[in-house]
Amino acid sequence: MIIHDAQFLTSNSRAELCPAPTLPEYAFIGRSNVGKSSLINMLTERKGLAKTSSSPGKTQLINHFIINEKWYLVDLPGYGYAKVSKTSRAEWTRMINFYLRHRANLMCVFVLIDSRHAPQAADLEFMEKLGEEGIPFVMVFTKADKQSTAQTKALLADYLKKMSEIWDELPRHFLTSAETGLGRDELLDFIAEVNRQ
Ligand code: GDP
Repeated sequence: MIIHDAQFLTSNSRAELCPAPTLPEYAFIGRSNVGKSSLINMLTERKGLAKTSSSPGKTQLINHFIINEKWYLVDLPGYGYAKVSKTSRAEWTRMINFYLRHRANLMCVFVLIDSRHAPQAADLEFMEKLGEEGIPFVMVFTKADKQSTAQTKALLADYLKKMSEIWDELPRHFLTSAETGLGRDELLDFIAEVNRQ
């Protein structure tokens, strides 16, 4: 897929106020610092499209972008901030649950996972919840350039082994790097494929 147009549309603190669900939608989510903004900018080839400076204390917003006038890309607020208050965490849970359960045009959630890290409870639990709710998702391993290919392979194998203890069928997964562009074609091809269905 060639991205010829990528525009910021809206920021909402309430899922109820998202744009009308008239186009297929793909949401990106992950722990803070996982590389979500960098990945969105890499995919769209727009350096400043997603802001890389989101700090934990800030209002958590659902950001909609429209791509090629054909589909929505959504930057969801991340989870796993250690310093976040109970109130903010509860608000995040309410907002994300509402969004995930009610967004009629949501085709797939991209769950971003730092390829350097061993499986983290927050990610595993989030994916289990998606599974329980029947929400389609894939895993996107980020920052593949941070270690050697052999190390990435070993880390990935460990992660998938852990996942296979939980899941009968492993979710689809992609390996990416915002630095090198690794995985870009695969992710965009996947979106194009789902858009065609
Ligand atoms: P976010 O908080 O999930 O949006 O994460 P950011 O996109 O802001 O990235 C967090 C940090 O990781 C920044 O310093 C990025 O430059 C860095 N980063 C993100 N993706 C990659 C990547 O693919 N490779 C490398 N080497 N660094 C990355």
